[in-house]
Amino acid sequence: MKRTHHCNELRPAHVGQTVTLSGWVHSRRDLGGVIFIDVRDREGRTQTVFDPSDLPKALFEQAAGLRSECVISVAGKVRQRPDGTINPKIATGEVEVLVQSLEVLNYADVLPFQVDDPEAAAKVNEELRLQYRYLDLRRPEMARNLRLRSKVAIATRAFMDEQGFLEVETPTLFKSTPEGAREFIVPCRTNPGLFYALPQSPQQFKQILMVAGVEKYFQLARCYRDEDLRADRQPEFTQIDIEMSFIERQDIYDVIEGLLKRVWKTALNVELPTSFKRITFQEALDRYGIDKPDTRFGMELADFTEEFRASTFKVFSGAIANGGVVKAINAKGLACVTQGQIEAMTETAKGFGAKGLAYIKVEGGEWKSPIVKFFSAAEKDALAKKLAMAEGDLILFAADQWLNACEILGKIRLYCADVLKAQGKLVVDPNRFDFLWVVDFPLLSFDKEMNRWYSSHHPFTAPVAEDIPLLKQDPKKVRGQHYDVVVNGVELGGGSIRIHQRDVQKTIFEDILAIPPDMVTARFGYMLEAFRYGAPPHGGIALGFDRMIAILCGTPSIRDVIAFPKTAKGTCLMTDSPGGVEPKQLRDLHLELKVGKKE
Ligand code: ASP
Repeated sequence: MKRTHHCNELRPAHVGQTVTLSGWVHSRRDLGGVIFIDVRDREGRTQTVFDPSDLPKALFEQAAGLRSECVISVAGKVRQRPDGTINPKIATGEVEVLVQSLEVLNYADVLPFQVDDPEAAAKVNEELRLQYRYLDLRRPEMARNLRLRSKVAIATRAFMDEQGFLEVETPTLFKSTPEGAREFIVPCRTNPGLFYALPQSPQQFKQILMVAGVEKYFQLARCYRDEDLRADRQPEFTQIDIEMSFIERQDIYDVIEGLLKRVWKTALNVELPTSFKRITFQEALDRYGIDKPDTRFGMELADFTEEFRASTFKVFSGAIANGGVVKAINAKGLACVTQGQIEAMTETAKGFGAKGLAYIKVEGGEWKSPIVKFFSAAEKDALAKKLAMAEGDLILFAADQWLNACEILGKIRLYCADVLKAQGKLVVDPNRFDFLWVVDFPLLSFDKEMNRWYSSHHPFTAPVAEDIPLLKQDPKKVRGQHYDVVVNGVELGGGSIRIHQRDVQKTIFEDILAIPPDMVTARFGYMLEAFRYGAPPHGGIALGFDRMIAILCGTPSIRDVIAFPKTAKGTCLMTDSPGGVEPKQLRDLHLELKVGKKE
């Protein structure tokens, strides 16, 4: 029985036609001797009716024995549903198929969890869903995510093609390079003792493609990072990877704005602005305390360094005398904060090395706080004015070095926003997308423990031209030509204009990052060599594809938009990977295991 229609196709116009549908038994209801089976396929579902007065007994009994998720084909006549039985919730809800024949294509055992009910599915624990991923993916919500992902991938390729980009595949067997994250390594049987590494990104290959004259490259690239997994990380993930020659930062902004505009239109029918706002790293930290600000709500950081410079409150004036700053936020309506919430925020501040968390509650017309008694009238005035303090407000302070103070309040700002959202006092429109570019990041950051500089982005990022003279004198002042694209507080991607001059790249590796010259040669020698033979100026970016799809699907977890994701422990519960190997395989690879071996 070959299917004539899919399960989301039949409408009143089909009434009277004989059709064949194939799919899964979504649900079965036995009502007054008549059996109703909703047949579901990828597209949707259709109600079919088994009426014993019309059917051979054996066929009816076969239908009565069908369980959820059995695979069937049914043929029958489309008819209008009787009045009062129309289901407006599904597209085929006005019709049903009166079954004339049934073929059972396969039976299903009792399921480990239900797939026909989104509310029940939401309660199923994720481990079970991952173990039976093929059932989980049958759920319409998950099927919708996969479909949207496919649509966006195709729209991306079409857009990039229109813009003249070539899709080039780069190797996934690469070699170890210190790009930041820990790598997966792959032993090489034919070269005893040597290893490939899975690429953290195609960074070096895409730059070499520019030297090769490709000019405009993109790839939906699989990347691998062997990091301790956080909730929204996966050991393998996909990014939209892009590189272009003969460009400036603005060219990247144009391409990405165009691409995201196309993607948002395709996926959600939402029109994004043609150009996104820009904010410097400095301003993002100053105002939001984070380099990926969620600008859908205010609660901005205010600076009180000048006001408290000469204060008798030593916690503040002392921090300022040490070169620090005093900053505060007003969490409007949060004077009702609980002791537990204050403790949680204090822990956050302590995590940054602060001794505690100063705050003021505005309650019953009074400022309630042990520190207020130390404040002068002028200091109080300044606070009240700049923070627009009113009844019910909660003011939170940080007095520390600039970056620390900003970051403490940045974290607390997001925490307060979550509490206020849960209380219904802060409403954020779920259909609002605040895109922005964060620019002018510091090129280098200092690692106190290791006592050396490291690249804030990666070592291939070019300094802002006018800052190059500062590289050796005052590295922390050097800005990188690095940009991040952020939406609603999520970093969607980042990239940079690259160094294309061999000597500048060598200086960064050897003099600034203090990588020993023989290691530079071993790891990047081929790149420095390539730069000798006419490397064009170039730059690029990578967007997190999984994360973007998760945002478009409105799910907080990237696992919901990856067909077969790993758990937070890096395991696949369906295939039970990673798994062991046979001793012979180890011998072939010239490897010996220490784990599980008695010394
Ligand atoms: N390779 C970088 C990353 O994966 C992105 C880029 O600089 O293009 O983060």
